[in-house]
Formats: sequence, structure tokens, C-alpha cells
Amino acid sequence: MMTDQLQRFLFDDFDIRGEIANADNSFNEIIKNHDYPLEVANLMGELLVATTLLTAMLKFEGKIAVQLQGDGPLKMVVINADQNLQVRGTARVKGETAGLSFSQLVGNGHMMITISPDDGERYQGIVDLSKDSLSACLENYFDQSEQLPTRVILHADSEGKAQAAGLLIQTLPSTGDNHENDFQHVCALAHTVKADELYELTQEELLHRLYHQETVRLFEKQAIAFKCSCSKDRCLSSLASITPEEILGILNERGAIEMHCEYCASDYRFEVNDLQILLGDTHNQQH
Ligand SMILES: [Zn+2]
Repeated sequence: MMTDQLQRFLFDDFDIRGEIANADNSFNEIIKNHDYPLEVANLMGELLVATTLLTAMLKFEGKIAVQLQGDGPLKMVVINADQNLQVRGTARVKGETAGLSFSQLVGNGHMMITISPDDGERYQGIVDLSKDSLSACLENYFDQSEQLPTRVILHADSEGKAQAAGLLIQTLPSTGDNHENDFQHVCALAHTVKADELYELTQEELLHRLYHQETVRLFEKQAIAFKCSCSKDRCLSSLASITPEEILGILNERGAIEMHCEYCASDYRFEVNDLQILLGDTHNQQH
């Protein structure tokens, strides 16, 4: 299995940048402890790859979340990533999804790109989902909202070995007379790539296969890795938002408070001894 990584590149002779992402292992981690239907898992793989490609929008340390919501059987799907390309994701499904297309899965809905710098203001972009694939919706978003002509190729396959990979080509601000033709040329070549080539070729092999006639400058590769940010401490701080009386009520009824992470499927269990800090005086009064 190929290592999960993101390769950014620039064309020396054109005002165009590009990125290739391979994310098989992270994709496998995101779906492995869940029972997602095939269509949903595949879309999660595409969204995972898209999100890693979109981390270029993170100009500072921070996080990006790409979330789709709609009234189709796929109620919600989200992928989170940070500037170090640590990723996780989850989805909520209700109803039959077998054989459904992208548009049928999502129904009427929208996609939100939320960028939260560690320091600074949050940015939200709304992606219209009227096109018939995730990649077409993203291309439309970049064309319309960002005025940055972009081509996005996404492939994911969760049958058997999980595979997910993608390619993005994007215009840079240009004054060149021939820029539009250059962009068409680079995109036409990008569109000759097949899913298996994206899955199986190394990123260098793929770039050579597509652009051996151009001068392509490679940036340092970045590793993509699955990592969930849930923890015992985070569970405890979310429990701090309910009153000690309510916590005691649950403990009396069930003997423990159980919490489940929808992202990594970890289970957390807190008994009365684990909750002393939150219960404080309330608990002591009962002794
Ligand atoms: Zn988790």
C-alpha cells in the first residue's frame, strides 16, 4: 500500500499549480470500524482526498472542516484536517443508499468549507451541490466564488482494499497572453489519468506520465495521517456543560456514563470515581 502523502507542484513555464494526494491508509482508518454503505464510504474517500487538497487554503496553523448536509439518505458527512494533514471523518446515514448517485445520496443540500486558523478569524465558504459529482461541485465553487479556474479529479474505492487518491490543477494569478491555452493543455492531460494510475503509480511516476514534456517543480511531500482528537479529557470537559445533578442522575440510573466517538469509534466509560472533579460538592453532600 502506498504511503499517504500530498505532493504539491508548480509548472515552471505556466502560472499553474497542482497537487496529488494519496490517502489509502487514512481512508481505511476512517471507514474500518463503521458499517458505512459502499456508496457512502466511497464518497467519504473522495471527500477525504478533496479535504487534503483543500488544506492549501490553510495559510496559517489551523483546521479545515469540509461538511456536506442534505435531505437525502446521506444526512451528513464531514472530514476534518489540520495544517499537518492529520485527518478524521464521520458520516450519518438514514435510509437505503444502494446504487444511488452523488446527487441522490445528498438530495437538496450544501457543502460548507470552514477554515479555522488557530489565531484569527474563521472563514466559511458555501459550495453549491447542484452538479452531479463532488469534484464538479468543487470546480464550480472555485470558478464562481474564488474566480480561480480549477480542475479536481477524485477517486475512491472501498471495496476490498481501501483506495483513495486525487489530483488538483489550479490557475495562479497570471498576466500571460497564452494562459488560458496553457491551462486547457495542462487540464486536458490531467483528464487522461485513470483511477488505477492515481492509486498505483508513485506521485513522481504519475507526474512523469502526464507532464514529462513540461518542467514541473516539486515541493516537499507532506505525510497524511489519520488522527482523532477525542480523549478522556475532552469527554470530561464536554460533561462539564451539564450540571452535577444531571450527571448524578445518569450515574444512579445506569451506573456509568458512556460516550462514543463517532469519528474513531472509541468508547469511553466514566464511573462515579472518574467524575469526582465534576461532581464536587454535590457528590460529597450525598455521603
Ligand atoms: Zn475519536
